[in-house]
Amino acid sequence: MAEVRVNLEAHSYTIHIMPGGISHVGALMRRLPLGDKALIVTDENVCPLYAGTLTDSLTAAGFTVAMVTVKPGEGSKSLTAANAVFTEAISKGLDRKSPIIALGGGVVGDLAGFAAATYLRGVPFIQVPTTLLAQVDSSVGGKTAVNHELGKNLIGAFYQPNLVVIDPTALETLPDRELKAGLAEVIKYGVIADQNFFADLAAAAAALLTREPAVLATVIGRCCELKAEIVAQDERESSLRMLLNFGHTVGHAVEAVGGYSEYNHGEGVAIGMHAAGLISKGMGLCKHEDVEILQQLLSRMGLPLTAPGYSPQALISYLQRDKKMESGKINWVLMTGIGQVKITREVTDSAIKEALAQ
Ligand code: ADP
Ligand code: ZN
Repeated sequence: MAEVRVNLEAHSYTIHIMPGGISHVGALMRRLPLGDKALIVTDENVCPLYAGTLTDSLTAAGFTVAMVTVKPGEGSKSLTAANAVFTEAISKGLDRKSPIIALGGGVVGDLAGFAAATYLRGVPFIQVPTTLLAQVDSSVGGKTAVNHELGKNLIGAFYQPNLVVIDPTALETLPDRELKAGLAEVIKYGVIADQNFFADLAAAAAALLTREPAVLATVIGRCCELKAEIVAQDERESSLRMLLNFGHTVGHAVEAVGGYSEYNHGEGVAIGMHAAGLISKGMGLCKHEDVEILQQLLSRMGLPLTAPGYSPQALISYLQRDKKMESGKINWVLMTGIGQVKITREVTDSAIKEALAQ
């Protein structure tokens, strides 16, 4: 079992990475100053798999447990779903010390985190992520949000959890496509911050794809460490945290052009990282071999490199509307090698077009 401590300006918390961890959540929560009522937020896929184990662990630790189960999928990141959480919290008498626990993937984490940030102006929040994507990315860092009909993630808050418990054995039931999507974010950490870690991933590819818990635990632990370091230095995304957006500029465009149904987030990020690599190479920032190594690892993990049939122009039109734009220019995260990136606004449309046409 490993622990990663996240130290932020006004708050710190521990991420526990432990195979079988779901059955220890109650005991870990008892170390914190919490009330006796807890509310689990989960979805209809995860509930029958893990809610029983979590509930038993909470009950054994003396908590009274309430639960809200939402429909799986992005549609549950809504004010309507948040309202269902509030209704349950109010009717079960949850007070300011009662924790809200997210049991599920990024959707459930964002929804439960948003509810925890706003119910009674903020109650304790606990993350028990069950997708690889949520374990390495969304459960660390404190971004919570729901969607608005006019755009994704527009209503939310920075709100840090009090505890994160990551159980790599929960990934055994994760659909293959979701596992691979999480691996895209894992590869991202290697490219932006750690060349040795990137090399380790290539060596561990088979074990990751067959979900060996010990290998997953090590890899997840390293991703959490890297993210915790970056977030600790830049809690509210002013500069350093932008590095985490590597692959996300084109990635978001691919997701959006596909109507959020053709490519999932991790697949978009894989395509986006490849495009960012090609742009970097095109601008002479990195070597041809760096892009080749990235391509090989993405392919090895079963991830797409391109979105066939998507017109570069459609993607570029979307890029121009990206909300991370400042003063009309996009902050591009480009690679200068494996393990190193830089942020630049000086990327020409023709360099983007050329990369997207490949
Ligand atoms: P993400 O974490 O990728 O942002 P979601 O919260 O939408 O996204 O989760 C992806 C899908 O995987 C959802 O359908 C969810 O119900 C399902 N899911 C989450 N965790 C597990 C698990 N451990 N086993 C099986 N299915 C899971
Ligand atoms: Zn992402």
